[in-house]
Amino acid sequence: MKHCDAAVIGGGVLGCFAARNLRRWNISTVLLEQAEDVCTGITRANSAIVYAGYDNKPGSRKAEFTVRGNADFDRVCRELEVPFSRCGSLLVTYEDASVDTLRRKWEQGIQNGVPGLKLLTGQEAEAMEPMLKSGVAGALYAPTTGTVNPWRLGIAAFENAVDNGVVPMLGTAVTAIEKTGTGYLLRTTGEAVCCKVVINCAGLYADRVQQLLFPPDIRLHWDGAEYLVLDSLAQKPEHIIFLQAKSCGKGITAIPCTEGNLLLSGVRKPICAPFATTNEGLAELNSAAKALLPGLDMTRIIRSFAAVRPNPYRESGESLHDFGIDNPAPGFYSLIGIKTPGLTCANELGMYLAGQAAAFLDARRNPDFNPHRRAIAKTDDPEIVCQCENVTCGEILEAIRRGAASVDAVKRRVGSGMGRCQGSRCSFAIERLLEEAHGGTC
Ligand SMILES: Cc1cc2nc3c(=O)[nH]c(=O)nc-3n(C[C@H](O)[C@H](O)[C@H](O)COP(=O)(O)OP(=O)(O)OC[C@H]3O[C@@H](n4cnc5c(N)ncnc54)[C@H](O)[C@@H]3O)c2cc1C
Repeated sequence: MKHCDAAVIGGGVLGCFAARNLRRWNISTVLLEQAEDVCTGITRANSAIVYAGYDNKPGSRKAEFTVRGNADFDRVCRELEVPFSRCGSLLVTYEDASVDTLRRKWEQGIQNGVPGLKLLTGQEAEAMEPMLKSGVAGALYAPTTGTVNPWRLGIAAFENAVDNGVVPMLGTAVTAIEKTGTGYLLRTTGEAVCCKVVINCAGLYADRVQQLLFPPDIRLHWDGAEYLVLDSLAQKPEHIIFLQAKSCGKGITAIPCTEGNLLLSGVRKPICAPFATTNEGLAELNSAAKALLPGLDMTRIIRSFAAVRPNPYRESGESLHDFGIDNPAPGFYSLIGIKTPGLTCANELGMYLAGQAAAFLDARRNPDFNPHRRAIAKTDDPEIVCQCENVTCGEILEAIRRGAASVDAVKRRVGSGMGRCQGSRCSFAIERLLEEAHGGTC
């Protein structure tokens, strides 16, 4: 049995940041993740936007954490050596009737303290973003909106957490939780964990994890969204473009990603099967994207995927709009139903949870905490394994050395297989490198 002060359940971006921030204090920490790698849940499939904070109700936790999280993003990404692009965003509308909505969001943003927000005329927006279909009725410009690769950010936080002493338990699902005299006993598919504090960051399953010990109060109802990815040679807008339409609220979104790809996201949808795309949804997204950005070359699409969103409802049926941070018993904290802008707020939420745990445990600051993590450096190794993304053998070996145990795990760390051929040319070579590294047992 493992003994620790705090056990974090779930290795998505939120669990990884919670674990990292716990080590700012002298709190011994274990991170349990049921998958063989971190960041394979919601963190793997979302819109990758670092929101400015004008969408959230003034006074809410979401508004406060988003504005603060956004302002701090450059620093966090510098510490963790993760690329971050503060490209700015335009929320555009083609309907006169929706211009008022933009004004309300502008006012809300000003109240929330979002810097640099500006209402633009249609002409100003079209001049700023020439790819937009003409006829824009108005736009809201937010210069602080940005984009980050969500799983790279989460993996970087995870690596830094482990460097600072967090004990990872990958491939280990929590199956039961018992209250003990001094804290909690977590039964798992592997070794049991005895701890004083539990931090439940189980994403889509956070309600079920809480119900392992407490009666149901909040339940997660899933819906989804579909995405298309265009390769880095596609012509792209410079800003993140959100479409505001009276009929469907926030419609399609176009995100120029840090890797040079363009990500297109559709409207929210009921899901038939988790993480499954539909022909109809993708066709709708394709034509909506072409209508918004007529110059887009849709032959540049290299991938589609679907995301799952955990919508939190109380047992009474009431929907929760703010971040649900539940504290059903002393020392037990649950993030339940953290949807957008959870990525933007990952560090803020982690700091908040770590602060709560530190107060509960009466913990001291950890003078040895090192916030810096080195990225996997581009090497000048002549052996290129992924031709599309120019990834060398040296980079792949370093990803494997850091714990990547599958072709997908390597991809999430160094971007191999993310290009035009989607790994059809390099997967075999990467499998071979994995086998060699694991002594032929992979
Ligand atoms: C469609 C969509 C778009 C979004 N876009 C944005 C955006 O653009 N910007 C933004 O700021 N936010 C966005 N978000 C929100 C953000 O992506 C999430 O808040 C964040 O990724 C949630 O991370 P997580 O760690 O809670 O969940 P996850 O990444 O799902 O991690 C939870 C982990 O817990 C593990 N787990 C579950 N049960 C157990 C168990 N019993 N034992 C052990 N492990 C367990 C799972 O395997 C999983 O790895 C979006 C969300 C969605 C759904």
